[in-house]
Amino acid sequence: MPHDLPKAYDPTAIEDRWAEYWVRENLFVQPTPSACAAGQADIFTILLPPPNVTGNLHMGHMFEHAESDILVRWRRMRGGRVLWVPGTDHAGIATQMLVERQLATEGTSRQQLGREAFVERVWEWRRHYGGAILGQMKRLGASVDWSREYFTMDENLSVAVREAFVRLHEQGLIYRGAYIVNWCPRCQTAISDLEVVHEEQKGHLWEIRYPVLDDLGRDSGESITVATTRPETMLGDVAVAVHPEDERYLHLHGKKLRLPLMGREIPIILDEWVSRDFGTGAVKVTPAHDPNDFALGERHHLPSINMMDATGHINAEGGAYAGLDRYKARKQVVADLEEQGLLAGIKDHINNVGHCDRCKTVVEPRLSTQWFVAVNKKATDRGASMAELAIAAVKPGPEGKKAIRFTPEQYEKTYLNWMENIHDWCISRQLWWGHRIPAWHCAACRKITVARVDPTACAHCGSKQITQETDVLDTWFSSGLLPVSVFGWPNLTAENRADFDAFYPTSLLVTGFDILFFWVARMIMFGCWFAGKEKMPNSSERPLAESVPFREVYIHALVRDANREKMSKTKGNVVDPIEIVKTYGTDAVRFTLASMASPGTDIAFNVARTEGYRAFANKIWNAARFLFMNVDRAAEIGIVVDPATLGGMPTVPDDAPLEDRWIVDAFQGVAARVNASLKDYRYDEAANYIYQFFWGSFCDAYIEIAKVRLDFSDEPNKAQIKAALSVLLGVLEASLRLLSPFMPFISEEIWHQLFEGNPPKLSIALAPYPVIEIDWLERANRGKNDPIRQMDRLLTLKTELLSLRKEMGVEEKVSVPIVLGCNQFLIQIIEKNRYWFERLAKVSEIEYDQNAGTNHPELKWRIGTDFVVAVIYNKVIDALAERERLTKDIAKYEKGLASAERQLGNEGFLAKAPVQVVEGLKKQEAETRILLEKAHTALEALPKI
Ligand SMILES: [Zn+2]
Ligand SMILES: [Zn+2]
Repeated sequence: MPHDLPKAYDPTAIEDRWAEYWVRENLFVQPTPSACAAGQADIFTILLPPPNVTGNLHMGHMFEHAESDILVRWRRMRGGRVLWVPGTDHAGIATQMLVERQLATEGTSRQQLGREAFVERVWEWRRHYGGAILGQMKRLGASVDWSREYFTMDENLSVAVREAFVRLHEQGLIYRGAYIVNWCPRCQTAISDLEVVHEEQKGHLWEIRYPVLDDLGRDSGESITVATTRPETMLGDVAVAVHPEDERYLHLHGKKLRLPLMGREIPIILDEWVSRDFGTGAVKVTPAHDPNDFALGERHHLPSINMMDATGHINAEGGAYAGLDRYKARKQVVADLEEQGLLAGIKDHINNVGHCDRCKTVVEPRLSTQWFVAVNKKATDRGASMAELAIAAVKPGPEGKKAIRFTPEQYEKTYLNWMENIHDWCISRQLWWGHRIPAWHCAACRKITVARVDPTACAHCGSKQITQETDVLDTWFSSGLLPVSVFGWPNLTAENRADFDAFYPTSLLVTGFDILFFWVARMIMFGCWFAGKEKMPNSSERPLAESVPFREVYIHALVRDANREKMSKTKGNVVDPIEIVKTYGTDAVRFTLASMASPGTDIAFNVARTEGYRAFANKIWNAARFLFMNVDRAAEIGIVVDPATLGGMPTVPDDAPLEDRWIVDAFQGVAARVNASLKDYRYDEAANYIYQFFWGSFCDAYIEIAKVRLDFSDEPNKAQIKAALSVLLGVLEASLRLLSPFMPFISEEIWHQLFEGNPPKLSIALAPYPVIEIDWLERANRGKNDPIRQMDRLLTLKTELLSLRKEMGVEEKVSVPIVLGCNQFLIQIIEKNRYWFERLAKVSEIEYDQNAGTNHPELKWRIGTDFVVAVIYNKVIDALAERERLTKDIAKYEKGLASAERQLGNEGFLAKAPVQVVEGLKKQEAETRILLEKAHTALEALPKI
């Protein structure tokens, strides 16, 4: 059956088809292993960082998924059990916000709908629109096990969340407390420190005079001035603090002040925390609205007055200001203070203002009751705290081995530093979408019942008057449990048990720096905590090294734009991966990302490179077409290469021609290097080795040489053709397998064609990866007989000759005589391979001359490490026409240069033009300068008339 590869490479035509095939055929499904497989060393598990269910694929995802997929495909082809688990996160705040916006357009709101109907509405949204990103992943060919797809709100994962909460509560590690949280008045929920984005803003520092009272409670005529950036919070002031040794205030110790506008008496308190050097040295104390003041208030047993409601409006505690929005209240407070003569001054001030990461609203520090995990408290049955275990998991153990290894290594320090200073984790969110906290408040005894099964009565007094807590859990609480919960914890039935024992701990986590604390740290805490108590297959308890959620963490870099700027919507430099894929194909985009990816290095994504790798894919396609054409032609005259001989490492007999021994050795070398590079996450090296081999060695050298042997003229040498075709097909087949993790689509397409639709496996992704068992470099270093050394000499000589010809203006098709000075060794190699060397180097005759340089001083010489060579060629040049052409060129370059210089010298233009435009202009200017110089030199070299 003749091969049927379309003439032009069209990625869209093949990619959709294979993407669909991989999913349909369940190729990447990893079933639950039988019990005996548990604990096997050749298991490779990786968990996809779950994208938000609301999300769409961006370049960062594509990069993360490409890096993971390359490793996963590589491991899978190397054998063993490989599992990549996909899923999505319910993303509490983001999803709730989205549905709320949708409701707003319908003129209703979540409050109007009520909790139950709202949650049902979110589920409905999810059924229709959720997980678009997973569909995009399918199209891009991510080789995940779709049968194991999870959603963090799924029933089984919710059971895990509930069990974790109840267990921690039983262990005394969950508590409720008043706490200053970052409050978003728009989202109306507490948000974590990590979800607050700080931005510098121009603001003011208002100085306010607080009158000092005498012993009878009357104005003494004296006052203390305090400064604040949020004057409205003074409505909630309960004291003014000064340093105990501050001499300015010694005489006021024990006195009281009258709080302006509110009229209440507040004490002057002494605290060493107050800085004497900052401002007046006196600070107002608002425990309910500032974290530092909250701590002060605790130390001095001061009351907390919460004067703002959940929407950022002043409440009844704010007296006359009640009902005003926080910024209106600020204006009013300042105006009233001024009127009463209590405003001492207003200064310009740069504030570092916290904004909600989700909706960009200014965050309000606000006192509220929240739920916490006591991460630093030792549980009696563990002898350690959660944070201590999470630190021990990353530090070297008793034998110097780390249970979790970070790449790049620097993140280990970042992680440890954060974990060593960690505060209790606020896990409650005032949302409706999420895992509702399994705690019930009793109206009779006021106590709380926490239970695995919804209770009908209070566990303390038996009262039926109980209501469930309205808060839900922080999204990271559930995603922190994923490594244990996706493998069935806590419901470890026989089947789940086999999964859990085989796949936990996972092998690797590939993720971004931005969620190191959010997610990575929490998975480590929860993994060590909960999995540590899960029995091993031999019924012993898991040691720390076996309870960690993953053994390695690879923190990938960022994808930036071509100018190394961070991609952002406001800058308008966001590259949409789907658009790029439509233009160049997934394979070319993946290869671009891989070719620049190495630990700790950000990627400057440049479409020009993708264009280059699209051309690479073209090159591969055309090479395959050329081969298939010859295979079909050979078949017509009865020459058949048995496909059964293909599939392993390509080999040739020891007495095979040099080029055959060379290409096979070179392939083994590149395979050895690619495997070693991938082990160290050097995607860039691996991709570049493959590129150089395929394009340079295989296409530009070997195929060109083979063309000489593939001679189908009158009396074809069948043995010679068959030998050449065997090597060509063997190396192509193995190269496709080497390439497959990087370019899965094109390799799959050509591979199926190569086996004429009857490949040995359902997919190239299931075929073995080319691995070389021996130390390749040792083997290859075989002295003068080393085919690589011999071939290198011939190819270097060829390259020098071609470049010399170009310089001398020899026409493409003309073969020319050469004079070559070199040793006997090179002469021998050339003579043995002359039948193809002359063709490739476009040589018609070779004159060997040891003293070539001195015998022919008139020739133009190229000097290599072990040769000198010259081309004998006399070009007839029409000097007049050449002079005319060069003069025209020079005029053109000079004009272009003048224009560029004018623009670059124009301050106004420089100030307004985008950076890219200016950079482009500078580059153009430099290039024109070089062209101009070259033209001048050429003109001077022309014979004078
Ligand atoms: Zn918000
Ligand atoms: Zn009760």
